[in-house]
Amino acid sequence: MKIEAIYTRQSVDRIDSISVESQAEYCARELIGNNYKIYTDKGYSGKNTDRPAFQQMMQDVVAGRIERVIVYRLDRISRSVLDFANVIDVFQKYSVSFSSTMEKFDTASPIGKAMLMIVMIFAQLERETIQQRVIDAYASRSKRGFYMGGRIPYGFTLKEITIDGIRTHCYTPLEVESTVIRQIFSLYAQPQVSLGDVVDYLKAHNIKNRKGEPFNRSRIRDLIVNPVYVKSDYSIYSFFKTQGAEIINPAEDFIGTNGAYLYSGDSTKRKTVSLSGHTLVLAPHEGVIDSDIWIQCRTKCLHNQSVAKPMKAHRTWLAGKLKCGCCGHALVAKVQPRKHKPDVRYYLCSYKYATKGDCTFGSLRADDIDALIYEEMRNKLSEFSVLSKKQPETNQGVCRLQSQIKEVDQEIQALVQQVSLASAELMKYINLRITELEQRKKDLCARIYDLEHQPQVDTQEITEYLQCWDQLSNSDKVSVVDCLIESIYASKNGLKITWKI
Ligand SMILES: [Zn+2]
Repeated sequence: MKIEAIYTRQSVDRIDSISVESQAEYCARELIGNNYKIYTDKGYSGKNTDRPAFQQMMQDVVAGRIERVIVYRLDRISRSVLDFANVIDVFQKYSVSFSSTMEKFDTASPIGKAMLMIVMIFAQLERETIQQRVIDAYASRSKRGFYMGGRIPYGFTLKEITIDGIRTHCYTPLEVESTVIRQIFSLYAQPQVSLGDVVDYLKAHNIKNRKGEPFNRSRIRDLIVNPVYVKSDYSIYSFFKTQGAEIINPAEDFIGTNGAYLYSGDSTKRKTVSLSGHTLVLAPHEGVIDSDIWIQCRTKCLHNQSVAKPMKAHRTWLAGKLKCGCCGHALVAKVQPRKHKPDVRYYLCSYKYATKGDCTFGSLRADDIDALIYEEMRNKLSEFSVLSKKQPETNQGVCRLQSQIKEVDQEIQALVQQVSLASAELMKYINLRITELEQRKKDLCARIYDLEHQPQVDTQEITEYLQCWDQLSNSDKVSVVDCLIESIYASKNGLKITWKI
């Protein structure tokens, strides 16, 4: 059975302020039944609704335990019209009627309803005023470096706005994309739903990102922790406050409309773990996700941080060179023990294996890959042994280029000497010619640089190494590979080797 609630509040004991006991007495006269509870906050001001008994009462309202709330005066709820309107909103949502003894304010009566509407209109006005203040404050902040450039988050597009006579941009929700955003949040808010489930859901419904690619877990994660989507209200303010973020706007500006930006002091740090050193600022655009859902999702995300499993790096002479042909991350060797048979080594994509990244790389037998690469290196060297005979020509080439540079220098000098005697017409010619010559000198220097920095690999020595490959230590193999190969991208379709020689 539902109860009636009497709420009393007194900030300080003063002779002219009515005591909580008297307030309760007045309110009790308005009671309809006998089943009631008194909620009392003594020593709390009405500047916000952050009071223990009040919060307890609101919880009971949400839990459906209360059918009516009675106060001595409206300002017992809050001195802020906005707070008051928000509280009334909650009352209406849970069918709680509300009476105030002094103002004869009873939402069950027609006049009470009319008054309520007036209060709501004033609250809306205040909301808009605050929003304007947020926009103005944001503009002055953007001049101090809080410019909102960069990639436009999924769900938004840019629109032009004018703040203080300055034309700038602000995000505005895209209908289709914000529907996706809402879906993502409402899915992930369910306790049993994982990031992977969200990815699967989007895949199944053929929902792709802006590039037309499927969403992956890390993108979804980044999206969920980004406060750009939240309708920032007081709970967002206290959430970020307790996480240690610096908050630019005053608490009362968090009215549940604007999105927010989180700036990190150190841009290389991910904006997830601790938020100290981070700055939160209200943005001029409207958020799309209710704060309770957003906090739920973000908190869940933080608790589910995928910690890379310690992976026993198996020694492979391709370490550092071998990359996943699908996503570009390193391949790692993993050993699978087998009964009665020798172990098998596989190459797995580290991104997929360790961080459950979105990559389609399966696995490749390490022995096959190693043998293939060994073969490729032998082939490369046999073709190179012919090329390497040209080595002396490199030196000749450098000499020839250097003498050309000398000629250019001489001509420049000769021209400079003529300058003092030259007519205007001739000056024009001299200037042109000097520019030309300087460019030519630059080109020649660049060619010398290229020649001199051609890889100087002792192919003879490496060929010998390859001939006794199986007797080499792992680290010797690594250095041989490092002499020859820049990178190897492996996939089911084969190898793509970038050579250093
Ligand atoms: Zn991969």
